[in-house]
Parts: sequence; structure tokens; C-alpha cells
Amino acid sequence: RLLRERELRSSWVEEVDAKFYCMVACCYNVLYMMENFDQFGVKEVDAKWIGWAGVNVPDEIGQRALTKALAEKRCIPVFLDEEIVHQYYNGYCNNILWPLFHYLGLPQEDRLATTRSFQSQFDAYKRANQMFADVVNEHYEEGDVVWCHDYHLMFLPKCLKEYNSKMKVGWFLHTPFPSSEIHRTLPSRSDLLRSVLAADLVGFHTYDYARHFVSACTRILGLEGTPEGVEDQGKLTRVAAFPIGIDSERFKRALELPAVKEHINELKQRFSGRKVMLGVDRLDMIKGIPQKILAFEKFLEENSFWRDKVVLLQIAVPTRTDVPEYQKLTSQVHEIVGRINGRFGTLTAVPIHHLDRSLDFHALCALYAVTDVALVTSLRDGMNLVSYEFVACQGSKKGVLILSEFAGAAQSLGAGALLVNPWNITEVANSIAYALNMSPDEREKRFRHNYAHVTTHTAQDWAETFVSELNDTVVEAQLRT
Ligand code: UDP
Repeated sequence: RLLRERELRSSWVEEVDAKFYCMVACCYNVLYMMENFDQFGVKEVDAKWIGWAGVNVPDEIGQRALTKALAEKRCIPVFLDEEIVHQYYNGYCNNILWPLFHYLGLPQEDRLATTRSFQSQFDAYKRANQMFADVVNEHYEEGDVVWCHDYHLMFLPKCLKEYNSKMKVGWFLHTPFPSSEIHRTLPSRSDLLRSVLAADLVGFHTYDYARHFVSACTRILGLEGTPEGVEDQGKLTRVAAFPIGIDSERFKRALELPAVKEHINELKQRFSGRKVMLGVDRLDMIKGIPQKILAFEKFLEENSFWRDKVVLLQIAVPTRTDVPEYQKLTSQVHEIVGRINGRFGTLTAVPIHHLDRSLDFHALCALYAVTDVALVTSLRDGMNLVSYEFVACQGSKKGVLILSEFAGAAQSLGAGALLVNPWNITEVANSIAYALNMSPDEREKRFRHNYAHVTTHTAQDWAETFVSELNDTVVEAQLRT
């Protein structure tokens, strides 16, 4: 009401709702955790969520109103102005760290311009992290655990420990941490590592990422890596793997809803007589969507029998649409899909249904449930939750998961999935053929393996394990001194 009275943009609150992904360290998985707060085993804990509001609120009246609205959701906003968002979020986080951590390297089009703007973007990154630290510090009470999320907040552990060395600080990375040879190319490589090392506990999705981080600390900073973590002048930063999971029960419950069952029946009728293959990705370079579609084309080329018996549904959720590289990717994907549909389509059916939009949770569950083969071909991916969600919804179908070996999920679902190198179009095409022809026995065996993993390694366990390990780490450090 206050927003409207002051003739401020009344859409702010809705925008913030829609951008909760950005609210907490700008991260999907954390948003998911927020939405399902009570199911994460942390409901007894009076947790607060601190994050960028995702919208520009320049004046104090608006900021107060938004702070009040978000308090009901146990959220505390950090207000960043447009310039800092541009330099920090679009610049340093998404143009430098994101591609680097996914092995795409540093921006290269205009090396000198990049080098010049690099320092100002890094300064903005540090400033923004300090702003987060200020807000955390304002709300901190003795004994609180502070859990920092993702590559947007690598400076936060250091800022927090400068405020209060006794604060229990954990940091978790939701993307891959690349080989030290890649991390070495980053001009601010040492500063970032040292800031993260200020945390008590540093967590990654897989052992490989944790190992890369420890190697980067030994090779770049000359510190000692131990099986426990990284040691610097007697101070140990514990480094470990905490693979995230999903709330599998939520998916199972959704499949029981009458509206979802109805949707499943509609989809079954719509695609009757055809095997359904599914891809669900943000339209990002790391997801390997063009490679996936080219592999599907090769499969159709070589398996004429399947041409009118299979359909690929590709949900490509638009992301960072104002960035030219992402616009180029969109056109590239549209062009390939158009060409393949022109080549193999008929007057009544096309082989690829490509959707440039997101689906709501229930529509997604229905789609997962009717899928025969899910295709996840990320070139690099921190974990990839779509693969977990697909498995959770396959109780009756027992479909096949084709999974990139470069997704973190390959480490946990590798024995049940068909693992592929997404760059090898021939291998992916052959795996599609293998999946479609797989015997019911093999499908069942592979599914059982994955289903057991997805339903026992949940997001709740992930959150609990991290927080309890953080508490233990602090106690052990106190005992050592
Ligand atoms: N998602 C969604 N609607 C869509 C497509 C995807 O809600 O139309 C969700 C999906 O359920 C999953 C998340 O987006 O939870 C994607 O997570 P993932 O780890 O696979 O990839 P990310 O996008 O985080 O790189």
C-alpha cells in the first residue's frame, strides 16, 4: 500500500517475488530452498535470508516499504544501485566468473577493453560483497551460523571475519570450481582464494571441484593442502564435498494431484505412438543445447525407422537475454531447430518441439512423468537438478537418463545413467538409439539405482549436513587452540 500511495512502482514487490532467484546470492537452488523452507530440516532454526533485492529501489521510502514486505518472508534485502549491479552482477559475476568457472575462459573479444574494465568490475565486486557483509553484521546475533552462497559472494567470508572473527562462516559454491590451470588466468585469482579461505568451512558439489580448489590454493598461494582442507599458518579451512539433492517427496506428491494427472493424460494422448525425449535447460552456453540438437539430427539421419516414432521436447528457459552472446545462442538454436524440422518434419508432425519459455512446477512434473528419455548434455554444470527431478518423476515409466559426464550429477547418477561426452555428437546419437532400444530389464535396473540415490540424498540432508559440519568444524578449531 505504501508503495502505491507514494506513486512508486507498485510492481516492485511482484518483481521481487519473481526474482527470488536473485534474492539470495542470485542462485536457483537457494531460491528453491527458500520456497521450501520448512521442508529443509531447518524449520526449528530461526533462519533469515539476506540477498540482493533484484530490483533498483533508489529512494529510502521505497527501500523501507520493500524491507517491510520482505520481512514477512524472513528475507532481508541488500540494496545495490544500477551502476554497481552493472559492474558487479552483470560484469564481474556473470561475464567473468561464470564463464571462467565453466571452462569458457575470460572474455576475449576486446582484450584491452576487458583488461581495463576488469579492475573496476572487481572493485565493484568487493564493494558489493562489503554491502552484504554490512547487512549481515547488522542482523548478526552471537552464535549465529552464516552460510554464504555461490560465486557472487566469494569476498563475503573475509568481510565477515573482519567484523567478527568468532562468527561461524560457511561458503558453498553452486557451480563447478575449475582446474587450477583455469583459475590461474584470473587476474584476481589470489585475492578471491584468500577471501574464501577466511571461511571455516568451504563446500562444493563434488570431490573434483573441492580438489581443484585445494590445488589452486597450493599452486597459486603456496599453502599446504591436507585431506581436511587448506592450512595457512596453523589455521585450517575445512574443504569438503556436499552434493546437493532435491526434495523428491515434493515431486512425488505433485504427481498425485488430479490436475497433474489430467495433464499427464493429455500429454500421453498428444504424443501417443511416439517416444518422448526431453531437454529442460536455461538457454545458456554451458547447457550444450546446439550440441544436443545436432546429436538428435544425427540420430534421425542414421535411424530412419525412428523418424516418425520419436519427438524431442526442448524447454529452453530464456536467461540473460540482454547479453549479445546469449542472443546469438538463441538465434543459433532456432536456426538448427528450423532446419531439422524442415528436413524431417511432415505435414502433421515435427521431430522437435522447442519452447523458449519456462514451465510452472506442475507442468514440468507432468512432462518429466511422460518422458521416455531425458537428455542432459551440459558442457559443464555444477550439479544439474533437472536430471534428479526427472528421476524423481519416473516411478511408473522408468525412463532412461542420458547425462553429460561434465555435469556434477554424473558423479552420483553415473551408474544408472548413460554417460556421454556432449562434444561427441556421434556418441550422443548412438546413446539415443541405445536408450530407445533398451530392454525393460536394463531400464528397470538403471532406474532403481538412480531412484534410490535421488530419494535418499535430498536437499534437506544437504542443508543439514553442511550446517552440522560447519558447527563441528568450529568446535574442533576451538579445541585445537
Ligand atoms: N525449472 C523450472 N521451470 C522450467 C525449467 C526449469 O522451474 O521451465 C527449474 C528446474 O525444475 C530446476 C531448475 O530450474 O529446479 C534448473 O536447475 P539446474 O540445476 O538443472 O540448472 P541451472 O539452471 O541451475 O543451471
